[in-house]
Amino acid sequence: MQPEALFGIALGITPPWEVTSVAFSKESNRLDITIDFQRGATFACPVCGSPAPAYDTTEKEWRHLNFFQYEAYLHARVPRVNCPNEGCGVKQVTVPWARAGSGFTLLFEALVMAMCRDLPVKVMSRLFTVTDTRLWRVIQAYVDKARATEDYSDVTRIGADETFAKRGRDDNFVTFFFDLDKRKLLFGTKGKDNETAKRFVADLEAHGGDPEKVTDAAIDMSKAFIKGVKEQLPNAVVTFDPFHVIKLMNDKLAKIRADEARLFPAILKKSRYLFLKNPENLSESEGQRLDAIIASQNLKSSEAYLHKLNLQNVYFAESRTEAENLLTRWHRKAAKSSIHLIRNMAETVKEHWNGILSHFESKLTSGFLEGINSLIQSAKTRARGYRNLDNMIAIAYVIAGKLNFKSVHPLPT
Ligand SMILES: [Zn+2]
Repeated sequence: MQPEALFGIALGITPPWEVTSVAFSKESNRLDITIDFQRGATFACPVCGSPAPAYDTTEKEWRHLNFFQYEAYLHARVPRVNCPNEGCGVKQVTVPWARAGSGFTLLFEALVMAMCRDLPVKVMSRLFTVTDTRLWRVIQAYVDKARATEDYSDVTRIGADETFAKRGRDDNFVTFFFDLDKRKLLFGTKGKDNETAKRFVADLEAHGGDPEKVTDAAIDMSKAFIKGVKEQLPNAVVTFDPFHVIKLMNDKLAKIRADEARLFPAILKKSRYLFLKNPENLSESEGQRLDAIIASQNLKSSEAYLHKLNLQNVYFAESRTEAENLLTRWHRKAAKSSIHLIRNMAETVKEHWNGILSHFESKLTSGFLEGINSLIQSAKTRARGYRNLDNMIAIAYVIAGKLNFKSVHPLPT
């Protein structure tokens, strides 16, 4: 067997295509494989599928999987067909080893899609010596195609979460919408205002979903967002789940501690995580240090910390009634606090009273939102250094969208 034929088999090249030459250059670190079609071959018209002979050809190159440490490239002259059927015209045929318009083979793209779950694109870019822009384009294309096949017709319970994405711009937030039953990301979009809810509903409908069928929405407590959700999802009970409530409380606590740390640096320096972590997650020495801080002085941080623990405690309630009693007690104390930000939190809780307590009836699990939030944080890390928020959203779909990429492009066998 000729080596060309061997490469043809390994690449899954079938007639009318065949490997005609394999050139290996140690100096330029390359393996170049040329593929050509047999004389007189016909190709399916990309419009109607009828066979037609080649009309003319264009030279193309595709990056393939590395051959050991060598970069491998496929080359071929890609024909256009002049279809006899009226209305089809002259069209370029699709080659079986690559997506139309892509400079990569399907196998290379499959590797990119598998790796981008765990590896920052910047690292892949160095590894393959391919620009990150080209890799992002591949990821975006697969995500778009896979999302186009998604069916949202049975979506009834959604969660939404806003994420701070980057510094120094107006559009520095991304809002994600999740299906709480299927536990997956449905939609990500820039911004955090009520427009994001409109865009979500448009996307939901584009995937066969019905906004009127949405019965529950676990969301953040920001005013503009609540308004958007109520307008767009008329039948949804809006719930403020524990994750969002505690997140907001932690934001206040962090601010109070940071301000106070400037006054008492010796006591409070580097104590942020002591206050924000749950007490059961602290090591023994961390716990001792936190106890010492709390005992040492009459600190605002300590008071705020106790409000946080008491608020968390509400979520151990086993019924709405019990939760309401605990929340009432929490609110009474917090509303009288000398700390402005705590009174502020008490006010927010009062304003969202029913939404917070609905959690105990609709039983929307916040564990999922918390878990998915950490997935989204890792998406942020993967996309780090890229100004384009679309990249962050694309990676979030790859990680949390449960998309079926195999349905998008069956790989050559
Ligand atoms: Zn045709």
